[in-house]
Amino acid sequence: MKKSLIIFLPLLLFFMTGCNESQINTYDRDFFAMDTYITCQVAVDDPKLAEAGLGAIENAYLEIDRITNRFVSNSEISMVNSKAGLEPVKVSKELYAIVETALIWSDKTEGAFNILLGSIMDLWGFGSDNHRVPAEEELAAALTLTDYHKIILDKEETTIFLPEKGMVLDLGGIAKGYATDKAVAALEELGIKNALINAGGNVYALGKKADGTDWNIGVQDPRDPQGIAAVLNASDSALISSGDYQRYFEVDGVRYHHILDPANGYPARASAGTTIIMKSATVADILSTAVFVKGPEEGIKLAEGLSQVDAAMVITGDGEVHGTQALKNYMAEH
Ligand code: AMP
Ligand code: MG
Repeated sequence: MKKSLIIFLPLLLFFMTGCNESQINTYDRDFFAMDTYITCQVAVDDPKLAEAGLGAIENAYLEIDRITNRFVSNSEISMVNSKAGLEPVKVSKELYAIVETALIWSDKTEGAFNILLGSIMDLWGFGSDNHRVPAEEELAAALTLTDYHKIILDKEETTIFLPEKGMVLDLGGIAKGYATDKAVAALEELGIKNALINAGGNVYALGKKADGTDWNIGVQDPRDPQGIAAVLNASDSALISSGDYQRYFEVDGVRYHHILDPANGYPARASAGTTIIMKSATVADILSTAVFVKGPEEGIKLAEGLSQVDAAMVITGDGEVHGTQALKNYMAEH
């Protein structure tokens, strides 16, 4: 028994290596969705399957964009927002699930993650071309409309109700992560085991590269658009980054960016960039935003205490890199 294994094992390994080299190809697609340039590649041996996989990824982002884009007047989220203070709105299971998950994690992040910041995002002009620094009084008034505990969900009816006029749901901190999980689920359903999706720093590394090694993901240096702050190696993981370099405007040399501190309505200042590594892209998206708001000490402490999180990294404005204990296991030389 033992003898035959010894003979067969090298043969088998040789055969498997041969298969990999001759058959696995990589197929790419780029597209624009969720206000983001998205690139993806699948590593499979069948071009038809590759086409199906790339199509499924694109559909997942387009579908979630259609539901969650609050700047399109007939989207589901816009219906919910337009009925604020008036009545509950029946929504799809998908929008319901996104909001329900967001609310659970709002509590787990002690309110650092908050999907009711839409009215404040609007004061800053994010999502439009008219950026401006709002007055203190405007922010103070809008802050009274951000208590996410007041959102009323009805699971049986799948309705969402924003009870006060002026409340605005904004799912910008979770929608891309949710779409990423949907894309990965579609790939798995098709039997595709190896793929890489990058939706503007919202990455999923499924399986391995065609050569059988881990995917390598570069994390942008927050202060150098051409620079890489770290290279992370991962397999079967979401690697989701948030940063003050992704959407911002400057007035008098001050950078005003799109990740807001729910405590005061101003751009959060404790971090410049964050990356979360874990299986769920939805939760990683939530946490990349929440850890950003909390900053290096509190944010890393939060991530360290969550068993679902594989690793977390925070880069500060002056370039300090903070990480959870396990971060070093993912760091590659670069
Ligand atoms: P992300 O790039 O995932 O960090 O998400 C940033 C986006 O989430 C912003 O463009 C807003 O739409 C929204 N957002 C900003 N601040 C917060 C916050 N503290 N909690 C939840 N969502 C936020
Ligand atoms: Mg996020």
